[in-house]
Amino acid sequence: MMNLEPPMAPSGLRDFATNDAEQPQPNRPIIRFGLCCQNCGHEYFSLQEVLAGEYGVGGIEATCDNCGRVGSVFHASRDGYDGSLGHLLFLEAVSGRQPLKDDDQREIGNTQVAAGFCYSIELNELAAIAEEEHLAPQDLFDWVVVYARNSDQNAWREVWEYECA
Ligand SMILES: [Zn+2]
Repeated sequence: MMNLEPPMAPSGLRDFATNDAEQPQPNRPIIRFGLCCQNCGHEYFSLQEVLAGEYGVGGIEATCDNCGRVGSVFHASRDGYDGSLGHLLFLEAVSGRQPLKDDDQREIGNTQVAAGFCYSIELNELAAIAEEEHLAPQDLFDWVVVYARNSDQNAWREVWEYECA
């Protein structure tokens, strides 16, 4: 199992400050980071999906509910294993955005957001690929999960995921 000590955020989260980093647990092999606005430090966001032409959803963004700064949480064309290695450049064009909705078709806003990254590749193999490609090993995740937590909830809930390898 992947273990990066201290937890290292993928470079795709460059638009945010992060907090509450969590190492993988035996029953949950995901490194998770809470997101804060890089501009104002606020922790509540609205989420929107980024559309990539005929291929559908290509990524996700979070807009700060306080200052309005928009940050990319993930985009398949550049983030994750396939994105970092340039396998998905055909997704590059952004054709639109739509609010991310929950199972009850309500837009997801005024919520804390966390991003989780899963690494299925053995660490030594991952390190070898990263060195060969001049990439950071934490960028070669193969699954991303976005979590939301409203102020009246205690638990994170999964609201979006993308397999990127
Ligand atoms: Zn802000």
